[in-house]
Amino acid sequence: MIECKAKTDLGIYLDHAATTPVLPEVIEIITETLYKYGNPSSIYGLGKESKRIIQHAREIAAASINCDPEEIIFTSGASESNSLAINGYKNNVLGYKNSVALLYSAIEHKSTTEIAKGFFGNDKYSLAIRVNKSGLLDQEALRIFLNAAYKYHFKAILTVQYANNEIGTIQDIKSICKIAKSYNAILHVDATQMYGEIPIDVKALEIDMMSISGHKIGAPKGIGFLYVSKDIQDKIIPIIPGTQENGLRGGTENVPYIAGLGKAIELIDYTTAEKKTVLRDYLINQIETRIPGSKLNGSKEYRLSNNVNIIIPGIDSETLVLQMDMKGVYISSGSACNSNSIESSYVLRLIGLTDIEARQCIRITIGSETTVSEIDRFVEKLLLVVPVVPES
Ligand code: PMP
Repeated sequence: MIECKAKTDLGIYLDHAATTPVLPEVIEIITETLYKYGNPSSIYGLGKESKRIIQHAREIAAASINCDPEEIIFTSGASESNSLAINGYKNNVLGYKNSVALLYSAIEHKSTTEIAKGFFGNDKYSLAIRVNKSGLLDQEALRIFLNAAYKYHFKAILTVQYANNEIGTIQDIKSICKIAKSYNAILHVDATQMYGEIPIDVKALEIDMMSISGHKIGAPKGIGFLYVSKDIQDKIIPIIPGTQENGLRGGTENVPYIAGLGKAIELIDYTTAEKKTVLRDYLINQIETRIPGSKLNGSKEYRLSNNVNIIIPGIDSETLVLQMDMKGVYISSGSACNSNSIESSYVLRLIGLTDIEARQCIRITIGSETTVSEIDRFVEKLLLVVPVVPES
């Protein structure tokens, strides 16, 4: 029998925005489901059992965002969901020979900005909308661009993160949704970092599509979903054609991981945000008071409960992350997705930091299992590696 032990006891894990430990209950259901190997498309009992497992997870996912089960399309995660939403819409619109404009916030995840880069050519335009020093989207600029798209008969699709993965800024999504709808734009929200923080009601917000990733909420990497409103499902061309997932995502379903995602969603506990906020503010205060010159990046007010992104003058963030690794502490120098890149974080530069400053920032993201003692031990270890400031 496999022992389910998800929590790492190898060190202090403070990189939950990169990924979260897989929950023991999730490992358990995945393991159980692996034995139920029927293909969900098969019509005999074993196949029906797999189909039932998927349907159960679909209902849980749908209830978590107040939509219908048929509006949940399981994918391999948020990168794929973003692609399906944006390229899926673009490919359809092009079929009708319409011009299409992709508007997105400049600090979107790479999986979106890379799509935007390839979004040029005949009747295709993409436009990044700036953010302010806190990382909040410039809503006036959004209005201007949506108005221009509307005036020149472009089909506009707006894609915006609910919360940023590097600096933790939470957008005023209610207001952004209202603006998008007033210009008849298709609205796609990347809620990867926000899902699990507060309940999200896609119907109340009039969101057309929304991306979610399992590994940010205690499920494994490689599973997620895209919510696609019934009203626009016929406007999306699949990236992987096939009969599964309402024809929007072909391929035999990953039944065990879908079951695991369903379990992780069932286990979401919105009350942990409060506890994480207390720990987050304690950590910010510890660093800012004990390390002279250190300063929080992004918004203090509109911030994910688990995110601390801070500049520590004089450090090299990559080196510091490795030094902390040797001390058994896991943090990030930016977003994990950018950590192979020699470029400094574009998100930090877009909120006004210089290239040099952006290389002096670390991201610490706590989890619901993080303790005060872990934060204290982290700070003590951090103090051992930051440059000593001469006494004045
Ligand atoms: N969007 C955001 C905001 C993210 O934080 C991430 C993951 N870092 C993704 C998309 C991509 O998610 P996945 O790893 O599931 O492809």
